[in-house]
Amino acid sequence: MAKKKTEEKVEVKEEMDNVEVLQDEEALIEKPKEGLAVELGEVKELEEQIVEEVKKKGAFEKEAWKPKTSLGINVKNGVIKNISYVLDQRIKILEPEITDTLLPNLTTELLMVGQSKGKFGGGQKRVFKQTQKKTQEGNKPKFGTFAVVGNEDGYVGVGYGKSKETVPAREKAIRQAKLNVIKIRRGCGNWRCGCGDSHTVPFKVRGKYGSVEIMLIPAPKGTGLKVEKECQKILKLAGIKDAWSRTEGQTRSKLNLLYACFEALKNLMQFKLSQKNEENLSIIEGSSKAMM
Ligand SMILES: [Zn+2]
Repeated sequence: MAKKKTEEKVEVKEEMDNVEVLQDEEALIEKPKEGLAVELGEVKELEEQIVEEVKKKGAFEKEAWKPKTSLGINVKNGVIKNISYVLDQRIKILEPEITDTLLPNLTTELLMVGQSKGKFGGGQKRVFKQTQKKTQEGNKPKFGTFAVVGNEDGYVGVGYGKSKETVPAREKAIRQAKLNVIKIRRGCGNWRCGCGDSHTVPFKVRGKYGSVEIMLIPAPKGTGLKVEKECQKILKLAGIKDAWSRTEGQTRSKLNLLYACFEALKNLMQFKLSQKNEENLSIIEGSSKAMM
């Protein structure tokens, strides 16, 4: 577990290193390498198409799936029907199809982690973060994107994918998000509310990643998500409807903020609660509906 965390950090660090050698997009377009100009110039259109594709993505074809792990086989055969069981037993999910099967109502979204460059229209939010590495053969662009998957009912996962091209970056990110899916706790943790629905976080919870720390705070019903815009999407797909938040550190490093937000959601499961507390806070773990 601890090891995994380090790996993730290393990846983000790597990303940051790349950012430092970021170059002006214009410089690249002026003296294009063959094949490269097309890639960069059409990124915007491509991006829209890619985002559309994510939304439209059809039902997962369970029949065509050939599981490679024993968990996968058990899931496909219907021996294991509940994601909650898999996560409670801490069985590592190594095939994204497992998550597709156990959480059929999964929604996928790409978050805005990038920015367009150049004099005009610069600074617009994009789902692809473009980085370049300077090498002897010239500038090599890379695309990174951050995916979140969730059933809007207690289960959520995030992932980052990086590749020389946009589509594989997206596929990597979505795959990673599915492998990273977690179960969260929700409740009614605001003393002024007491509605008894599980609409917010049941208690204050913190998440830290790099220099960024975020605190999610229970809010009364109808508050909405008073959280940074991209974090909102993570909370929404997790099934949290109301929350306040407080952030510290370099929140402009978007990836760290998103990871911190996910860490906070993970930490919702860390506290031992008495039966009485659970009832008082209307806590539910995972899905509100009994699954299969
Ligand atoms: Zn409430």
